[in-house]
Amino acid sequence: MTQPPTGPAPQEPEQYALFAYEDTPPSAPSAGAGGFRGSPQARRMLDVREVYAEPAALVTPRGRQILAGLPGVPVTEVPSHWRIPSLHGDDGNVARWTRIKTEALVLGVRHTLATRPNGRSADWIAPGGSNGCAMACAYCYVPRSKGYANPITLFTNIEAIVAHIRRHVRAQGPKREPNQCDAQSWVYDIGENGDCSVDALVCDNTADLVSAFRGLPTAKASFATKFVNPDLLALDPRGRTRVRFSIMPASDSRLLDIRTSPVAERIAAAADFLDAGYEVHFNLSPVVLRPGWQQDWADLLDHLDDVLPARVKEQSAAEVIMLTHNQQLHEVNLGWHPRAEDVLWQPAAQEAKRSQNGAVNVRYALRIKQDALARLRGLIATRAPWLRVRYAF
Ligand code: SF4
Repeated sequence: MTQPPTGPAPQEPEQYALFAYEDTPPSAPSAGAGGFRGSPQARRMLDVREVYAEPAALVTPRGRQILAGLPGVPVTEVPSHWRIPSLHGDDGNVARWTRIKTEALVLGVRHTLATRPNGRSADWIAPGGSNGCAMACAYCYVPRSKGYANPITLFTNIEAIVAHIRRHVRAQGPKREPNQCDAQSWVYDIGENGDCSVDALVCDNTADLVSAFRGLPTAKASFATKFVNPDLLALDPRGRTRVRFSIMPASDSRLLDIRTSPVAERIAAAADFLDAGYEVHFNLSPVVLRPGWQQDWADLLDHLDDVLPARVKEQSAAEVIMLTHNQQLHEVNLGWHPRAEDVLWQPAAQEAKRSQNGAVNVRYALRIKQDALARLRGLIATRAPWLRVRYAF
């Protein structure tokens, strides 16, 4: 791999001597190759017609590789991927919310390479290869600070990101105490602010991260996804990447999970991903409280129990996450998907909390939330008792 454009990265000591694992490149599909990436279904998700790019991102190998897969697509140079006035600052873009996600792509350089402790979904939140998403879940927290548009931003200095993660893994040494994140391995979330499966439609960042963790036997990558991308089956993770398929009742998903793979398709893909070498978990999230929610979650758990083969159940676990929302996003959503707000915005059941950056986030009031979590845990215990709940909040 070549060096990133932000100056020479600190020397990366050779990994093989420590872990004695081969770290061979993945057989990642290239843009335009015969994989899913080039299919009509993939183009319905991502049909890039305009690229906004930092000049530094354009000269990286990854930036050049991405553009080579997008012949003829115009590129607008921008000083920062983070604030692009014609995207994030134009309130007229709200009416084009999903179209912009389909047609716009931002390329940037990730300058801050920091791994944060987490302790819930993962031990650590790694700097991921993207920020933003081509899907359009109405409750998604990623656009809360993005203004009026949230297409995918791909970070093209993936070598620096991978080198940072390797250094961090090595600095931890072996995991000494099992915890709910994992009994043996340090778990690194690599997709906090995007969806790695969709990123893989247009670039190899996900493949590079999966490849890196294949060579890190004390650590494991983890990402949540709502999109079934069969190209990921070729990445040979050898058990070092955990895919968490996010699921919710189909009626909620049809209203809230805009542009995602159907929930039944995500569940049906679980065995294929396990057989391809992934660990497969489920995110029961977000849990949205509305009339009939308990029956619909019971039906979903019954469906899991009916269709998942024993080998998936045996290694599976779940995170349960209650809905949180945000006032600014509520107002944006009213401009493109007001029906979603009928269930997401429930001031009588929710309490507000002002975050450090001044944003007003809302979540179910404590007693309502605790009662709902107890009911959902009860449903899991009776309908899918094999499903270990890693944590619920
Ligand atoms: S898939 Fe995830 S990142 Fe993408 S819009 Fe939905 S919640 Fe946000």
